[in-house]
Amino acid sequence: MSKANPTPAGQPRPLAEIASYHAHIYFGDAAQRRHAEWLRQRIGERFRVRLGSWRDEPVGPHEQAMYQVSFATEIFATLVPWLMLNHGGLSILVHPNTTNPKRDHTVDPIWIGRSLGVHGEVLGEEDEAEEALEVNTQPTLEA
Ligand code: ZN
Repeated sequence: MSKANPTPAGQPRPLAEIASYHAHIYFGDAAQRRHAEWLRQRIGERFRVRLGSWRDEPVGPHEQAMYQVSFATEIFATLVPWLMLNHGGLSILVHPNTTNPKRDHTVDPIWIGRSLGVHGEVLGEEDEAEEALEVNTQPTLEA
Protein backbone atom coordinates (compact mmCIF):
# COMPACT_ATOMS: atom_id res chain seq x y z
CA MET A 1 0.00 0.00 0.00
CA SER A 2 1.50 3.28 -1.12
CA LYS A 3 1.63 6.03 1.47
CA ALA A 4 1.01 8.54 -1.32
CA ASN A 5 -2.39 7.02 -2.07
CA PRO A 6 -4.35 6.84 1.16
CA THR A 7 -7.69 6.55 -0.66
CA PRO A 8 -9.31 3.40 0.69
CA ALA A 9 -10.55 0.77 -1.70
CA GLY A 10 -14.11 1.44 -2.72
CA GLN A 11 -15.54 4.73 -3.85
CA PRO A 12 -13.23 7.05 -5.79
CA ARG A 13 -13.08 10.68 -4.79
CA PRO A 14 -15.50 12.62 -7.04
CA LEU A 15 -14.45 15.58 -9.20
CA ALA A 16 -16.97 17.66 -7.26
CA GLU A 17 -14.35 17.84 -4.49
CA ILE A 18 -12.39 20.27 -6.67
CA ALA A 19 -13.72 23.81 -6.28
CA SER A 20 -10.97 25.45 -8.36
CA TYR A 21 -7.25 25.22 -9.16
CA HIS A 22 -4.10 27.22 -8.58
CA ALA A 23 -1.01 27.32 -10.75
CA HIS A 24 2.03 28.67 -8.86
CA ILE A 25 4.66 29.98 -11.25
CA TYR A 26 8.09 29.99 -9.60
CA PHE A 27 11.17 31.97 -10.54
CA GLY A 28 14.69 32.43 -9.19
CA ASP A 29 17.29 34.46 -11.09
CA ALA A 30 16.75 37.48 -13.34
CA ALA A 31 16.30 35.40 -16.50
CA GLN A 32 13.61 33.31 -14.81
CA ARG A 33 11.91 36.44 -13.54
CA ARG A 34 11.84 37.79 -17.10
CA HIS A 35 10.23 34.59 -18.35
CA ALA A 36 7.71 34.72 -15.50
CA GLU A 37 6.82 38.27 -16.64
CA TRP A 38 6.56 37.10 -20.26
CA LEU A 39 4.26 34.24 -19.20
CA ARG A 40 2.10 36.44 -16.99
CA GLN A 41 1.36 38.87 -19.81
CA ARG A 42 0.52 36.09 -22.23
CA ILE A 43 -1.65 34.21 -19.76
CA GLY A 44 -3.60 37.41 -19.21
CA GLU A 45 -4.08 37.88 -22.95
CA ARG A 46 -5.45 34.34 -23.40
CA PHE A 47 -7.22 33.03 -20.27
CA ARG A 48 -9.98 34.10 -17.89
CA VAL A 49 -8.11 33.74 -14.59
CA ARG A 50 -7.07 35.76 -11.56
CA LEU A 51 -3.42 36.73 -11.66
CA GLY A 52 -2.13 37.06 -8.10
CA SER A 53 0.45 39.44 -6.70
CA TRP A 54 4.16 39.02 -7.34
CA ARG A 55 5.70 37.29 -4.31
CA ASP A 56 9.38 38.08 -4.50
CA GLU A 57 10.11 36.19 -1.28
CA PRO A 58 9.00 32.66 -0.37
CA VAL A 59 5.59 32.74 1.32
CA GLY A 60 3.46 30.08 3.02
CA PRO A 61 4.34 26.58 1.80
CA HIS A 62 6.32 27.89 -1.19
CA GLU A 63 10.14 27.58 -1.27
CA GLN A 64 10.75 30.13 -4.02
CA ALA A 65 9.47 33.45 -5.26
CA MET A 66 6.34 33.02 -7.37
CA TYR A 67 2.95 34.32 -8.35
CA GLN A 68 -0.33 32.49 -8.21
CA VAL A 69 -2.89 31.99 -10.97
CA SER A 70 -6.38 31.08 -9.68
CA PHE A 71 -8.72 29.50 -12.19
CA ALA A 72 -12.03 27.71 -12.56
CA THR A 73 -12.17 23.99 -13.30
CA GLU A 74 -13.35 24.57 -16.88
CA ILE A 75 -10.13 26.48 -17.68
CA PHE A 76 -7.88 23.55 -16.75
CA ALA A 77 -8.01 21.75 -20.12
CA THR A 78 -6.65 24.75 -22.01
CA LEU A 79 -4.43 26.58 -19.51
CA VAL A 80 -2.52 23.58 -18.18
CA PRO A 81 -1.44 22.19 -21.58
CA TRP A 82 -0.56 25.74 -22.65
CA LEU A 83 1.70 26.04 -19.59
CA MET A 84 3.30 22.68 -20.47
CA LEU A 85 4.32 24.13 -23.83
CA ASN A 86 5.34 27.57 -22.61
CA HIS A 87 6.86 27.24 -19.10
CA GLY A 88 10.33 27.84 -20.56
CA GLY A 89 12.02 25.78 -17.85
CA LEU A 90 10.21 27.40 -14.95
CA SER A 91 8.75 25.16 -12.26
CA ILE A 92 4.97 25.35 -12.03
CA LEU A 93 2.87 23.71 -9.31
CA VAL A 94 -0.74 23.01 -10.33
CA HIS A 95 -2.92 21.92 -7.43
CA PRO A 96 -6.63 21.39 -6.86
CA ASN A 97 -8.47 23.32 -4.17
CA THR A 98 -10.49 20.93 -2.03
CA THR A 99 -11.23 20.98 1.70
CA ASN A 100 -7.69 19.67 2.44
CA PRO A 101 -5.02 22.23 1.46
CA LYS A 102 -2.17 20.10 2.81
CA ARG A 103 -3.11 17.13 0.65
CA ASP A 104 -3.84 19.42 -2.33
CA HIS A 105 -0.28 20.80 -2.26
CA THR A 106 1.77 17.76 -1.18
CA VAL A 107 0.01 14.59 -2.36
CA ASP A 108 -2.30 15.50 -5.23
CA PRO A 109 -0.63 18.24 -7.34
CA ILE A 110 1.02 18.01 -10.74
CA TRP A 111 4.31 19.71 -11.60
CA ILE A 112 5.30 21.27 -14.89
CA GLY A 113 9.09 21.47 -15.15
CA ARG A 114 11.27 20.49 -12.22
CA SER A 115 9.45 19.80 -8.94
CA LEU A 116 10.42 21.87 -5.90
CA GLY A 117 9.89 21.32 -2.21
CA VAL A 118 6.60 22.35 -0.60
CA HIS A 119 6.27 23.04 3.12
CA GLY A 120 3.11 21.06 3.72
CA GLU A 121 3.54 21.39 7.47
CA VAL A 122 2.26 24.98 7.38
CA LEU A 123 -1.00 23.94 5.72
CA GLY A 124 -4.22 22.76 7.32
CA GLU A 125 -6.04 19.52 6.60
CA GLU A 126 -9.58 20.86 6.88
CA ASP A 127 -10.77 24.14 5.38
CA GLU A 128 -13.47 25.51 3.13
CA ALA A 129 -12.61 24.63 -0.49
CA GLU A 130 -11.59 27.85 -2.28
CA GLU A 131 -13.74 28.77 -5.28
CA ALA A 132 -11.97 30.37 -8.23
CA LEU A 133 -11.12 33.98 -7.37
CA GLU A 134 -12.65 36.86 -9.34
CA VAL A 135 -11.22 37.04 -12.85
CA ASN A 136 -8.92 40.03 -13.43
CA THR A 137 -7.89 39.37 -17.03
CA GLN A 138 -9.60 40.39 -20.27
CA PRO A 139 -8.38 37.85 -22.79
CA THR A 140 -8.50 38.77 -26.48
CA LEU A 141 -6.23 36.14 -28.04
CA GLU A 142 -6.61 32.44 -28.83
CA ALA A 143 -4.41 30.05 -26.88
ZN1 ZN B 1 -2.11 27.50 -4.17
